[in-house]
Amino acid sequence: MKTQIERPKLFSFEFFPPKSPEGIEKLRATRKQLAQLNPAFFSVTYGAGGSTRDGTLSTVLEIRKDGHEAAPHISCVASTKQSLREVIRQYKDNGIKRIVALRGDMPSGLAMAGELRYASDLVRFIREDTGDWFHVEVAAYPEYHPQARKAQDDLRAFKAKVEAGADAAITQYFYNPDAYFHFVEQAEAMGIDVPIVPGIMPINNFAQLARFSDACGAEIPRWMRLKLEGYGDDSASIKAFGMDVVTDLCDKLLASGAPGLHIYTMNMAGPASTLWQRLGL
Ligand code: FAD
Repeated sequence: MKTQIERPKLFSFEFFPPKSPEGIEKLRATRKQLAQLNPAFFSVTYGAGGSTRDGTLSTVLEIRKDGHEAAPHISCVASTKQSLREVIRQYKDNGIKRIVALRGDMPSGLAMAGELRYASDLVRFIREDTGDWFHVEVAAYPEYHPQARKAQDDLRAFKAKVEAGADAAITQYFYNPDAYFHFVEQAEAMGIDVPIVPGIMPINNFAQLARFSDACGAEIPRWMRLKLEGYGDDSASIKAFGMDVVTDLCDKLLASGAPGLHIYTMNMAGPASTLWQRLGL
């Protein structure tokens, strides 16, 4: 992991745009707490077909108003080029310099695939429209994307995103550090030299995590699944065990040269703050 070691570590936190007034208030409190940890940026997810377009933008603008860097996500699924251009220009006109470019997932029942098929097409589109304005991040999958026919195809798809102009990548979450190390080695062997920042999912609710993991192809290793299942409704034990596992994972990743950490906060400050203390960051 030589090229991954050479840069300063990059720490970031991910939010989703809240839907209710209570959610907005809760996220404000979360953000204030996490801002004290001095992350490089906060990122804000984007719903397929632009379903959270306004919420993503307003959340990002609020973060920036408080003086922090924010990166909106954008996804091309179920979207026209014209609507994507509008969103990209809106981000640019608001002085936003960082963007996370994704394909997104089709909400069930939606038949329209969109004018751009893959995230690599979206990255190219962003570069054609706005040149070097944005620092573009893309997704990477150490355990491979569930729709990839072969692991090698997924690596090639990742390379296509970098060749289209991505500056860095954030990974899907994983609990097996060897999957990440192997993925980075493979990527470097293919000439990919952008930072590949591990995405980290703290463990709070096992049923929810199991559902997410089945959908996105992130493996919960058997020993962890059995342990978590064994705690039943004892959420304090689930959280304590989860924090031990995730702290250990982050320790290993950082010690072995991972270029930073991107935390999927689920709009909660507690787990990320505890993790920071445990890691001594
Ligand atoms: P792509 O890179 O386009 O890959 C999708 C699939 O197509 C893969 O299987 C890939 O191997 C394959 N593929 C790519 N190019 C080709 C090609 N040329 N030929 C054949 N096959 C190809 N989703 C949201 O809706 N909103 C968000 O805000 C959001 N944020 C995310 C943030 C991170 C850090 C991550 C890791 C994921 C996020 N997602 C989000 C989920 C993401 O949209 C899904 O994982 C989606 O299924 C794939 O998106 P992608 O950008 O990786 O797609």
